[in-house]
This record gives sequence, C-alpha cells and structure tokens, in this order.
Amino acid sequence: MAIESNVKCALVTGGSRGIGKAVVLEFAKAGIHVMINYFGDEKEAMDVKNQAETYGVQAEIFHADVSDPVQVQNLFAAIDNLFGRLDILVNNAGIAQTVTVREMTDEQWDRMIKIHMYGTFYTSREAARRMWDQKSGRIINVTSDLAGQGAAELAHYAAAKGGITAFTKSLARELAPYVLVNAIAPGGTFTDIRSSLEETHDKNDSRQLLNRLAFPQEIARSILFLTSDDGSIYTGQVLGANGGSVMNG
Ligand code: NAP
Repeated sequence: MAIESNVKCALVTGGSRGIGKAVVLEFAKAGIHVMINYFGDEKEAMDVKNQAETYGVQAEIFHADVSDPVQVQNLFAAIDNLFGRLDILVNNAGIAQTVTVREMTDEQWDRMIKIHMYGTFYTSREAARRMWDQKSGRIINVTSDLAGQGAAELAHYAAAKGGITAFTKSLARELAPYVLVNAIAPGGTFTDIRSSLEETHDKNDSRQLLNRLAFPQEIARSILFLTSDDGSIYTGQVLGANGGSVMNG
C-alpha cells in the first residue's frame, strides 16, 4: 500500500516491550505509521499493534532477529511492500546479561555484539539506502549511559553500546545533510531488561542525580523529539536521557 507523502512511516526494532513499546505508542499518538519488529513473543507484539491502531495509524508486526542479515532484509522487504517508504528507524532491540570478563564465554561476547552492533549495522544499512534515495530520514540508535561510564560485569554490553555511538557519528557524517542520525543514551529505565542484571548493577544507577529510574515513556518522548521537526538541528549527537549519570559536552 502506498502511503501519502505527508504521513511518516517508522520501524522500531524490539518494539514489543519496554522502551520500544513506548516508542511505538508515542509514534502512533503522533500519527506515524509503524512497523513493530519483535523477536520472542508474538502475542506481546500483537498487543502493541492493537494499542497503536487505536490512534488511527497503520501498525504491523514482523518477526526478525536483528542479528541475522537475511531476516533483516526480509523485514525491510515487508516495509517496502506495506509502506513503500521509511522515514524513521529506531534501533532499540537489545539484551543485557551480567558476567565478569574473567568468566565470559565466546558465545556470550558474540551474542551481545551481534544483537547490538551487527543488528544496528544491518538495519541501518537497509534504511540508509532507502533514505539516501529519498533524500530524507531519521535514524535513532538506542545506546546506554554505560557506554560513557563503563560497567563492571557488563563489559560486552558497554563495549557494544560504545561501538554504536561511534557508528552513529560516522553514519551521521556519511548521510548528511539529508538523513539525520543520532543516538539516545538512557540511564536505568523501568523495563524487563533489568531482570537480566545482577543486583550489584543497581550501584551503577546510584550515580544518577535524580535518585530514580526513568520511565520508558520519558525515553520514548525524547526519541520522538529527535525524529520531529523540533529535532531538525540534531545530527551525530548522543542525547543523555540519564538523570545526570553521565554529563556530556
Ligand atoms: P526489554 O524490555 O527487555 O525489551 C527488549 C526488546 O528487544 C524486546 O522487544 C525484545 O523482543 C527485543 N529483542 C531482543 N533481542 C532481539 C533480537 N535478536 N532481534 C530483535 N529484537 C530483539 O529492554 P529495554 O530496556 O526496553 O531495552 C531497549 C533498549 O534500551 C536496549 O537496546 C537496551 O540496551 C537499551 N537500554 C535500556 C536501559 C534500561 O535500563 N532499561 C538503559 C539503557 C539502555 P522480544 O520481547 O520479542 O524478544
């Protein structure tokens, strides 16, 4: 189906839960059609789709492991068929797992790097080709404040997020002035991902000045801002949605 040129279409990876779900719903409220990528639970993805559709937008779900380039190609083929364009990509899919470097296996390192860094590369490559031809678009990569401060027992996670930060700045340079590419670096946020972390990790969040975790909606609204007309001067930036745990500038 061809979409009217004044209506935006977005892809949110990992849109079935947590921050990704909140982004999908903020986009839907703003009248943006949205493709919801999920990996594990189709029922949760369907629930998000149904909620998004109550705002009158087209919402679709697509199962794909972002670390698999063939599945990512299939995801973008579905977007081409359904929307015929892509204006916004949010690279949000992610996992976390606490383990020391001393105990980390090759498989644990690989899985972390594959989902975050390869996943961001595979989707950004597909999006960049389309947005470059369109001469417009926004790409937002979800990193973490841990890329800036490091984290014991999360070296693979922090390394992947640091890599995404450098990738963001490089892609912003390649795609300017047509496509704006930014990252958002949340601090601790109330989502399921925190159940994958050992209790010791909570010490990382005690560095936060506001003494609380973020709500997914607070991160989602910052992402919406970066994709909006109000965010038109931002490219190659990392927005620190972290309550003061890391200060940039
Ligand atoms: P979450 O609630 O656990 O959600 C993670 C999402 O990623 C789910 O929708 C999941 O899909 C999806 N996903 C996982 N592996 C995938 C894969 N291989 N392919 C496609 N999708 C996959 O976590 P969250 O806290 O919202 O995390 C979202 C992003 O924010 C992540 O990049 C995370 O690193 C970042 N972040 C989170 C925090 C925090 O404290 N929560 C802080 C800083 C940064 P299924 O449910 O379908 O498996």
